[in-house]
Amino acid sequence: MDAAPLGVVGTGYVGLVSAVCFAHLGHGVVCMDIDEAKIARLERGEVPIYEPGLEKLVADNAARLSFTTSYDVLLESCRILFIAVDTPPSPSGDADLSRVQHAVREIAARGGERLLVMKSTVPVGTGETVTADLEALGAAGITYTSNPEFLREGAAIQDFLEPDRIVIGSFREEDGAAVEALYRGIDTDVVRTSVPTAEMVKYASNAFLATKISFINEIANVCEQVGADVKTVAYGMGLDHRIGPHFLQAGIGYGGSCFPKDVQALKQLAGNSGYHFQLLNAVIEVNALQKRRVVGKLKDRLGSLRGATVALLGLTFKPHTDDLREAASIVLAGRLIHEGVTVKAYDPMLDAGDHPLFPGVEICAEPLEALAGADAAVLVTEWPEFARLDWAAAVAAMARPLLIDGRNFVDPAAAARAGLEYEGIGLGDDVPAPVAG
Ligand code: NAD
Repeated sequence: MDAAPLGVVGTGYVGLVSAVCFAHLGHGVVCMDIDEAKIARLERGEVPIYEPGLEKLVADNAARLSFTTSYDVLLESCRILFIAVDTPPSPSGDADLSRVQHAVREIAARGGERLLVMKSTVPVGTGETVTADLEALGAAGITYTSNPEFLREGAAIQDFLEPDRIVIGSFREEDGAAVEALYRGIDTDVVRTSVPTAEMVKYASNAFLATKISFINEIANVCEQVGADVKTVAYGMGLDHRIGPHFLQAGIGYGGSCFPKDVQALKQLAGNSGYHFQLLNAVIEVNALQKRRVVGKLKDRLGSLRGATVALLGLTFKPHTDDLREAASIVLAGRLIHEGVTVKAYDPMLDAGDHPLFPGVEICAEPLEALAGADAAVLVTEWPEFARLDWAAAVAAMARPLLIDGRNFVDPAAAARAGLEYEGIGLGDDVPAPVAG
């Protein structure tokens, strides 16, 4: 094992998890971030993000981890540098690479013989551009490898340590081999390829998963028209090994920091190279409309929404994370407030009070507090605690016991027994009527 520690630039969801998992595999790791508050917390042994198991893994590997805000400190000891900074969407829909470029410039300015390993999701062609930039900056001793990351927030540690595959794209064989060696101890398929191909594997994977979600959501919408049950349809489809059961859960659409921006970025990338990626337009549009269909469902049940009170259950983009980026709840809350609705909300990750992403929304400390007096509830995020919620108490607390289940998460029969008027996404005609209490 290389005695020099690895460097990880950016200690967010991907950077911190990667760093800690590499430490778990036995490597020394220097974690660098420009966010001083984040690094100060990490130095105190605190973990600034919520990810199951991460706090313990950080503590277990504390001796192999160090934290800094200084590129000088990072580059004093590290030869192999993972870049895991954020690549958010720019207003044009292209990936904003300014943070990647900043990191590359800082590293180039300090020269030396180094290997950059790109973990951030970057458009195809970035490896070639960065390599040309490094040469132009007089830092030709720094070489480039692509090693896209596929972890899911909420299951990030398991995904990193037991991945479906590791993809490594390199310009030089020895660089790819050096990166592959770092993963020794992980038993999985390794795909060694060119840099552009590795970059494309990441975008194509996310775009395909998003397509699956929009596909099943459209099937759900048709199920509602024809009285079929999308859950059973998805089950029946998923038994076909050519299709598989994953990513066939109908709901109010995908969100998060990856799918929306990566699908947009691939669409723009295709457009910039002269190809009109028609299918992705539909995937994006279906997803945007799916969030708004919930408002239509509320109107169908309640009539005008002006003056109504609606409780949102769950705000994070999915359970087991504190990440709110591109969460469906943001669009939904905004739409409801625009319709004149009083919006209350509860999420296990959010403190009571106001939140800048949810202006005008009263965030409550308990689910029953959010439900008190509500004319309807919308289940937005399938947090396990909502499956255990005392729905009979919810019915008693609500002005009208209507639940729109945006994730088909609550058992419709249990909801009916509790006295809830229940509607899911694409569940057809079989939803039981509430049992009179
Ligand atoms: P994040 O926002 O959680 O973390 C990024 C970190 O980089 C932040 O702490 C930020 O302060 C730091 N940073 C920004 N500019 C910097 C600079 N110039 N120097 C040093 N640090 C800097 O982002 P994330 O969710 O971890 O995503 C990182 C990349 O990984 C993105 O490209 C994303 O698309 C990709 N990715 C994310 C996931 C995911 O589930 N979050 C999964 C796979 C891939």
